[in-house]
Amino acid sequence: MRYVCRICGYTYDPEAGDPSQGIAPGTAFADLPEAWVCPVCGADRSLFQPESAPEATEEGPGGRVVIVGNGVAGFTVAWELVKRRRGLEIHIAAEERYHYYARPQLPRFLAGELGIEDLLFYEPSWYEAQGIRVWLRDPVVRVDREGRQAELRSGQILSYDWLVIASGSRPATPPIVGRELSGVFTLRTIDDALAIRESALDAQQAVVVGGGLLGLEAGKGLLSLGLSVTVVEVNDHLLPRQLDREGGEVLQRLLEQQGMRFVLGNSVARLVGMDRVREVHLENGQRLRADLVLISAGIRPEIELARDAGLTCDRGVIVDDYLRTSDARIYACGDVAQHRGRIYGIIPPALDQAQVVAANILGEKVEYHGSIPTASLKVAGIDLTSVGDVLAEGPGVEHIRLMQPEEGRYRKLVLREGKAVGAIAIGFRDQVPRLLQIVAEQADLRSIRRELENPDFDFAS
Ligand code: FE
Repeated sequence: MRYVCRICGYTYDPEAGDPSQGIAPGTAFADLPEAWVCPVCGADRSLFQPESAPEATEEGPGGRVVIVGNGVAGFTVAWELVKRRRGLEIHIAAEERYHYYARPQLPRFLAGELGIEDLLFYEPSWYEAQGIRVWLRDPVVRVDREGRQAELRSGQILSYDWLVIASGSRPATPPIVGRELSGVFTLRTIDDALAIRESALDAQQAVVVGGGLLGLEAGKGLLSLGLSVTVVEVNDHLLPRQLDREGGEVLQRLLEQQGMRFVLGNSVARLVGMDRVREVHLENGQRLRADLVLISAGIRPEIELARDAGLTCDRGVIVDDYLRTSDARIYACGDVAQHRGRIYGIIPPALDQAQVVAANILGEKVEYHGSIPTASLKVAGIDLTSVGDVLAEGPGVEHIRLMQPEEGRYRKLVLREGKAVGAIAIGFRDQVPRLLQIVAEQADLRSIRRELENPDFDFAS
């Protein structure tokens, strides 16, 4: 049986094994070593699912579930439901024209390393076989909560027993003068990537606004297309949410070695051009030539549908610990959901939340208590993982650093009262699964506190 990475869509094929990690052909997924991770995105084994959904075993009272959005959150709710329960009628209504695909792979798609067929998780026939009705380019535009009906853009009316709002987010676009010029993009969808690729054909100089995960990955994609790439980041180091300054510097050096350039601690004042963008003017007066600009400034949850339906919203749709919105028949999960004040905007929490939503639709009363954020940078030649509270400060907090900038390596463990609460690993790929585990468990490391200071301390062994 083949297994698919829920994060990036990589498929583990037992017939091929995984030579990159010394896994011989013929090794079944269940027999992979514990330390094995997704060779593409670094996700651990628990984030894999069988390629075809197992036959559902439970019988139940049935009912209809309408899911708004076919990104990872919406898709995973559907997957969990079909895996568990026969007799539920499941509809997914989506804005895009493509079936569920691996959004984290868009930078590699942009670079031309992957085709659309590589991004798609399942063929249309799979959805038919599972009994999932997918409405593409036909999103839910209105919800009648009283009548429990969702109206699609085509006019189709779907009544529901449960509605799941998994409408995700769109790129945040700061109010930069000139952002309407041609050659200025955001990257969220396959169609965005296709448009950028088209524009890149006659471009030489790209500026990426924002040095977060997506900005850097997309920047690498543009670099692979032959453009010169400068990343502008307002913070004084890269990946400000995932890295401290030391880690940011190690990463910057690695990316510079790949040809990327950086302007840090500065922001964009305006984009300048007649029709197409030609220059980027920065706040400090510096001017960068640019015929392609990619704005990567975070996300904005798609809450319009929920707000228009009268559901309680803040920056996202407010959900309780059961991931119910202010209407008990309506759940929300993924980028659109705001749980205890928090919107994650990354995939692992969306997977956690989708599983909780599915369980609650099945009547199990499962609570969600938040996720430990985990992020990895998907740039070839760089292994970077950040997990948990890597920026914690204050009394009782210790940062144990191993700095090897010349080798492009950096490791940091964050302890609070002796317990592991966060970790950064750049260039320590074999130690990542264990680091993820000890942070997930908030392992108490006081007994080995001294050994941790040893630069040779190896979490993998
Ligand atoms: Fe993966």
